[in-house]
Order: sequence, then C-alpha cells, then structure tokens
Amino acid sequence: MKTYNIAIDGPSGAGKSSISRAVAEELGFIHADTGALYRAIGLYALRNECLEEEKITQEIDNIHVSLKFIGGVQRVILNDEDVTEYIRTPEVSMAASRVSAVGAVRALLLGLQKKIAAESNVIMDGRDIGMVVLPDADLKIFLTASAEERASRRYLELQEKDENCPPYEQILEDIRQRDYNDSHRAIAPLRQAEDAVLVDSSHMGFNEVVEHVTALIRDTLGL
Ligand code: C5P
Repeated sequence: MKTYNIAIDGPSGAGKSSISRAVAEELGFIHADTGALYRAIGLYALRNECLEEEKITQEIDNIHVSLKFIGGVQRVILNDEDVTEYIRTPEVSMAASRVSAVGAVRALLLGLQKKIAAESNVIMDGRDIGMVVLPDADLKIFLTASAEERASRRYLELQEKDENCPPYEQILEDIRQRDYNDSHRAIAPLRQAEDAVLVDSSHMGFNEVVEHVTALIRDTLGL
C-alpha cells in the first residue's frame, strides 16, 4: 500500500516537532520525531559514560530504540524502558547532538525510520529526512527561524516548566553550538534539500505556520 511521507527538516528549536504534531493531527497522519531517537541514544551514552565515538560504536549492539504510537502520540523506548520523559533536558540535547555525528548511530536509526515511513502515512521531522532518510518523500519542507528567535522561544518554554531555566544567552549559545555541530558533521549534515520548500517562521505565529504547512501538504497530495 502506498503511504504518504512528508519530510520536515530544519535546525534545533525551529518548532519542527510541535508544528509537525499539530499538522499530523489535522491530517490523521502519525508524527515521527526522529530527534527523540537520537536523544534516547544520547541518554544511553550519558548513563553509560560512552559519549566518545569509539565507545558508543562499541556499545551499539546493546542499544535498542523504537518509537511506539499510542493514539497517535509518540513514546520513545530504550531497551524496554519508556524514556520519553527523560530526553528533553539540555544535557541530553547536547549528548544527542554529539552521538548523532557517529556513523554507527546513524546507521542504526536509518532502517528504523525507513520502516516507519513504509508502514504509515507519516510526517517525519529531523535533520536529514529529505536528504537521506526519505529522498522520495511526497513533500519536503525546510522549517527554520533565526537563532535569536529560536532561542527566545526555547527560553520561554523552559521558563514555564522550570524556575532554574538557564539564562537566554546560554540557550542561544547552545543553539548556535548545535547548529554548528549539525551542519558541519561529515555524515548527513543538516542541509536544505534542493527540492524542499523553505518555510521561515521567524515572523510567523504558531497557528499561522501550522495552517501554511497543512495547506502545502493538502495541495501537494490533493487531499
Ligand atoms: O530535533 P532534536 O533537537 O530533538 O534532535 C536532537 C539532536 O539529534 C539534534 O541536535 C541532532 O544532532 C540530532 N538529529 C539528527 N538527525 C535527525 C534528528 C535529530 O542528527 N534526523
């Protein structure tokens, strides 16, 4: 059976996940947030002190990650443990960015992501979805915003959850560091695919972006 596959790529904090989730709900698709898979491996690396390339590569056969969709909502499973609630800390973000540069980690996750797309109508968000994971996606979107705008959105979001949220400058610095890591790594660097539609959300509200992306998908798929 033909499944519809939408690829959404872009830098950290561009709102890919929350936008993709809302659009997927609107269209009745599942939303696969692939960053969560890298985060789960980052968490494993922190817990087992194997952040270095050589160590995580040696550990790769002991790492089993998967996504479960419960009522369309994604849960992330790491070696039989649901780690969904543990992967959103700044420490895990940085660990994910590090381990995602490792070839063995990317190879492990590639097959899993392709399988999800082959089985379901999916909006898959990440960094290399349009370029590497789903080069034949029905539609590719590159969703971005300025680093300052992304940092201030993340700051407000963290502040709501946690009084000990890091200062804005620290968040901006982390975002710049992750942008650099993601776009300069040797394997599958973050890059806009030639056939991707650029959506710059710097001056757009959340609902506006959701409506725009939903309309792009409906037009392309004739839904
Ligand atoms: O999207 P999110 O910020 O949750 O991703 C965490 C990290 O995982 C990113 O900084 C990036 O290094 C990595 N990643 C990746 N390829 C993807 C998704 C995420 O390298 N498809």
